[in-house]
Amino acid sequence: ALVAGRAASHGPGQTADGHPVALLGNIGSARDLTPDVEGVGLFRTELLYLDRADAPTEQEQVAAYTAVFAALPGKKVVVRTLDAGADKPLPFLRMAEEPNPALGVRGLRIARRTPAVLATQLAAIATAAAATEADVWVMAPMVATAAEAAAFTSQCRAHGLPTAGVMIEVPAAALRAPSILRDADFLSLGTNDLSQYTFAADRMCGDLAELLDPWQPALIALIAACATAGQEAGKPVGVCGESAADPDFALVLAGLGITSLSMAPRSIPAVREALAAHTLEECRQIAKAVLAADTPEAARAAVRRTSG
Ligand code: PEP
Ligand code: MG
Repeated sequence: ALVAGRAASHGPGQTADGHPVALLGNIGSARDLTPDVEGVGLFRTELLYLDRADAPTEQEQVAAYTAVFAALPGKKVVVRTLDAGADKPLPFLRMAEEPNPALGVRGLRIARRTPAVLATQLAAIATAAAATEADVWVMAPMVATAAEAAAFTSQCRAHGLPTAGVMIEVPAAALRAPSILRDADFLSLGTNDLSQYTFAADRMCGDLAELLDPWQPALIALIAACATAGQEAGKPVGVCGESAADPDFALVLAGLGITSLSMAPRSIPAVREALAAHTLEECRQIAKAVLAADTPEAARAAVRRTSG
C-alpha cells in the first residue's frame, strides 16, 4: 500500500498511482446522499411511481429531480429512466398479466406501448437539469439491441439531454457493446440483472445464489468485453450493480478498464481504501489472473494471490 489509510479515507476514488476510478452512489432520492459520494451513478426513479393510481405529473417529477440535482452542483448524476415491470408492477400502466414477467414488457420496453411515460420523464429531467448546475446523464434500463439504444439516445438529445447512455443488463447488449457505443455516450453495467439473464437464474432465488455470484467467469467475460469496447471507443463504462461494492471485485473492475463504480453510499469507504492500496498495473495483473480462472473460487483465490 503506497497510500496510508488516512489519506485514502476521503476524496475521489483512485489507485495508489493516481489513476481515477470515480466512486458514485446508488440512490432512490435526495435522502440517500452522503458526503462520501463523488456523484450519483444510479438514480433509481421508480420510487416516484410506486403505490399510486396515476403517473406522477411532470411538475411533481421536476421537483423530485431538482431536489437531487441541486444537492450536487458540478457533479455527475446518472438518472435511470423508469424501470417498471417484472418485480415492480405499476397500477397506472395497466400492464397485462405476463407468464414470464422478467422476460416481458419491462424497463425501456414499456415505452413501446406507453411512449408518453418516457417522454414526460425525459422532459421533466431536462427541465430540472436546466435549472441546476449538476452534470446530468440519462440512461435506460433493459436495453437489448443497438437499435433500441440508438432510439433512446436520440430521444434524449431531442429533449435537450446531451449525455445519453444505456444500462447493460442483457447478454445480447453486452455482446454488441461496440455497436451500442456508436450512439451511446456511455455504458453502465447492471450486474444484478446481467447475472440473472446470463445464467437464466432468478435474481431473487436464494437456491441459485452460486450462479448469481459476480465472480462467475461468464459474467466477468461479459464485463471485460464491455470495458474493452469502452476503451476502444474512448467512452466511459461503469458498473452500478451490487458487485461494485465488493472491494476485491472493485480491483478486478479497475484492472479491466471500468471507469466508475456506483454502489450504496455506505459501501464507498471500503472500496476507496482497496483501490488506494493498489496501483493500476497491480489491478491489471489481478484482472488478468481472474480472467484465466475457471471457477468463482479460483477467481477469488487469484485475487488473494496476486494482490498480496
Ligand atoms: C442491476 O440490475 O444491476 C441494477 C443496478 O439495477 P436494479 O438492481 O435496479 O435492477
Ligand atoms: Mg437492473
